[in-house]
Amino acid sequence: MTKPELPPIRNIVEKYGLKASKKFGQHFLFDLNLTEKIVRLSDVKAGDLVFEIGPGPGGLTRPLLAAKANVHVIETDQRFLPALAELGEFYADKLSIHLGDALNFDLNLLAKGKPFHVVSNLPYNVGTALLIQWLTTPELSWQSLTLMFQLEVAQRITAKVNSKHYGRLSILCAAIAETELIMNVPASVFTPPPKVESAVVNLRPLPLQQRFDDLDTLAKITGLAFGQKRKMLRTSLKSLNADLGINISIWLQSLEIDPTTRPENLHPDQFMQMAKAYKLATSIT
Ligand code: SAM
Repeated sequence: MTKPELPPIRNIVEKYGLKASKKFGQHFLFDLNLTEKIVRLSDVKAGDLVFEIGPGPGGLTRPLLAAKANVHVIETDQRFLPALAELGEFYADKLSIHLGDALNFDLNLLAKGKPFHVVSNLPYNVGTALLIQWLTTPELSWQSLTLMFQLEVAQRITAKVNSKHYGRLSILCAAIAETELIMNVPASVFTPPPKVESAVVNLRPLPLQQRFDDLDTLAKITGLAFGQKRKMLRTSLKSLNADLGINISIWLQSLEIDPTTRPENLHPDQFMQMAKAYKLATSIT
């Protein structure tokens, strides 16, 4: 006997009366061709452990399960639990459902030491906070992050030096991972459509010895530098004079960085060099 097919996502939404909630940033994907493409590009393979944040009615969860991954979903809105349970019955033993705010979950702990992927159409209001959380995990076990963001954030994550969207987030990501914008997604494919365009980014961790291990200091330096983006470094980083005990221009010159440079023209490696030197100088004094 052939296995019965799952009903379309749209029908699941109707069946359980799942009206999109603004509070939880809900914009659903009903087009399974699109979500299948996201899963294909994520490079998730049969047997892989995958976390999906915010599965909603399951538009992205389905192709993950169809790819024979072991999927853990974390959803904050309990209205989706019956629809997800139905999906879990269809793909027996492949889906684990966790209810709660993803910001409070330690994925390493849930993964029990196994490497994992994250594939997610993220709620826009917590997407960046989650990304920073995953980047700063000390014992990083993710093999890839494939994440939907609003287009502007996706451009910032993947921007290179000397380009329009280059900034703090680009540098924090470049310190840990290779980044790539893999798909543009128009607002019209979501129900209801958001006000902004979206894009999917893929992050893959750099080899361990190439990763920068002090994101807090890097976040501090890049925060100051890009807080006054149009200003030269000697001005935007002036407040570090007191911590360093020397004039910022002299300090920058000692690192062979031109104090008149603007932050968008400074390579991530140079920001990492500054963060390292700052940490060293301030832990000695
Ligand atoms: N993945 C579904 C799709 O593509 O159709 C829904 C995506 S919708 C943009 C975001 C989902 O994240 C919603 O289901 C929402 O309830 C959930 N969500 C919002 N904030 C969350 C949080 N802090 N933790 C976990 N899930 C959250």
